Amino acid sequence: MRSRLWVFGIFIFWAVVTPVALLIFAFCREPILGDPHNPAARLLPRGSILDRNSVVLAMTAPDGSRRYPLGAAGSITGYVDRLAGIGGGLERNYGDSLIAKRTNRFWYFSRAGEPGDSLRTTLDARLLSACDEALGERKGAVVVMKLNGELLSVVSHPSFDPNKVGKEWQSLKNAKDSRLFNKAVQGFYPPGSVWKIISSIELLDREDRSFMCQGGIKIGDKLFRCPHPHGRVLGLADAFARSCNSYFISRGMREIKNRDFVAASKGFTTGMHEDRTGTNYALALIGQGPVLLSPMEAAVLAATIASGGKKPQPVYLKKEVTLNEVMPVEKARRIQSLMTGVVLRGTGRGMMSLVRQGRVLGLKTGTAEAEISGGRKTNIAWVVGFAGKKAVPEIAFALLVEDTDLYAAEVCLPLLRGILDTYLSSGKVAGA
Ligand SMILES: [Zn+2]
Repeated sequence: MRSRLWVFGIFIFWAVVTPVALLIFAFCREPILGDPHNPAARLLPRGSILDRNSVVLAMTAPDGSRRYPLGAAGSITGYVDRLAGIGGGLERNYGDSLIAKRTNRFWYFSRAGEPGDSLRTTLDARLLSACDEALGERKGAVVVMKLNGELLSVVSHPSFDPNKVGKEWQSLKNAKDSRLFNKAVQGFYPPGSVWKIISSIELLDREDRSFMCQGGIKIGDKLFRCPHPHGRVLGLADAFARSCNSYFISRGMREIKNRDFVAASKGFTTGMHEDRTGTNYALALIGQGPVLLSPMEAAVLAATIASGGKKPQPVYLKKEVTLNEVMPVEKARRIQSLMTGVVLRGTGRGMMSLVRQGRVLGLKTGTAEAEISGGRKTNIAWVVGFAGKKAVPEIAFALLVEDTDLYAAEVCLPLLRGILDTYLSSGKVAGA
């Protein structure tokens, strides 16, 4: 009797438990195929990665190796290599789309050895190359997006050539300049005067007033300097355009509640430190000290202002677009006006010729001090803003240059000019 029970038990196990386990295995298997940790994924044939106009950014060659026609765009495409594996960018994040769809669910390898579907991204190859050329040998990052969050260009320098990742793997892994790291997304930097956009959001609702800038303001025993004495500052628009630190610290310390500023800041950055009191609060009002920002977050901030208060999620695929209304349209328009004022009469005057051509352009420059290895002081320079071919903003951008002695207006604006010229001369990008 007992032996019959054993046989029955084994029968039940095989009849019920095994099929259920196989089903779970089969349904869980598909995501594993595209998982970058799966050692077999690097050997599977993949579909091509395309830009928004079907320009090939990544493809599988007849010998099975992965090719990247744009070369230096490694920080955005990522790489697939038999030796180095799968890393970075689109190859890593969209592995499932690129290889899984035509793959046998029960086996690692594609049944017919076919690649997966192509992935058409929102990127623009011309703009990627323009951003890459603009940064040249400089360290930094650029993000350009449509106002709904569709990313047109994401560039991080120094970068790497994904075609050579296998040959150069050891030196890439050990490189001190972290060129495998995508600064545009993962790098956090003091935003400097770019953060006056946030301070302005809080000041706009209050009565405006003029201010006499003597070149600095003392809070406690610490002196906060302007680059030079601004003299009579006529109000918020003038202080914003000329980027007067004394004005923003003076009014901010008296009129903006710390918690309101922190709440406004947190909506746009994940990089706020905890200590935001006393002189640290004064620093935060001008984008130093407790505030850190990534170039991607900076571009999202600019897109939110330019779109009339709708905050986009930055995306690489059109179908993933989402927008959240975070600011009244009237307030966003008033900040747009502060930012166009920077070009008309402030630190962005070097870009005035674009406005004369009938383009819309609004921006904010920012230069933050940073200390790098060996205690050496250096500047982090930003320009963040929006532009359009006619009177309506179409794109938002953030451009960052690290390790420079120059101010943002000197180092960033000429680079931005090259990028905007490429965008503005293209008939396809905005509407595509
Ligand atoms: Zn000043």
